Amino acid sequence: MAIENISLSGRKTAVTNKDMSFWERIYLVQIVKGMMITIRHFFKKKITIQYPEQTRTYSPVYRGLHVLMRDEEGRERCTACGLCALACPAEAITMKAAERTKDELHLYREEKYAAVYEINMLRCIFCGLCEDACPKEAIFLTKSQKHVNVGTNRESFIYGKDKLVISVEDGKNKRYN
Ligand code: SF4
Ligand code: SF4
Repeated sequence: MAIENISLSGRKTAVTNKDMSFWERIYLVQIVKGMMITIRHFFKKKITIQYPEQTRTYSPVYRGLHVLMRDEEGRERCTACGLCALACPAEAITMKAAERTKDELHLYREEKYAAVYEINMLRCIFCGLCEDACPKEAIFLTKSQKHVNVGTNRESFIYGKDKLVISVEDGKNKRYN
């Protein structure tokens, strides 16, 4: 069989230049057929929802916005080791490390901490590799169902520690979802 005659899908139709019949020329049958499809869909159950008032049930493996964790004493867990940034395939994470002083023992768990920690949400693909890479259980992707806010400038998509670090209260109660 010639290659041009093979139809893998079984839907291949041969194109011919035969003259159209009267009914084909006035398109009436095609218009009625199209209207029937429209009417059929009109009475079907709607699949659109009124977000944000309504939300769908999320998948059990859903990964939402990130949080930076505190320990049970309310201290930040992140030591600015950089492993999450290395693991990130989208290069969305940046940070600056700083040394903890004696006065800051109650703020940071280890001697080194992230003075600056930022995630560029325009780059993030919510893969969760940062969470997997973290040796300190400091970063998690939550199931909060909160989404990145809509914005008109790029700066608003850079999430810093002010948005990422959980509250002391939540840290003590091990709440972050
Ligand atoms: S979820 Fe993935 S893409 Fe987003 S910051 Fe973490 S590693 Fe990077
Ligand atoms: S979040 Fe974890 S992996 Fe990333 S810098 Fe902090 S301690 Fe290291």
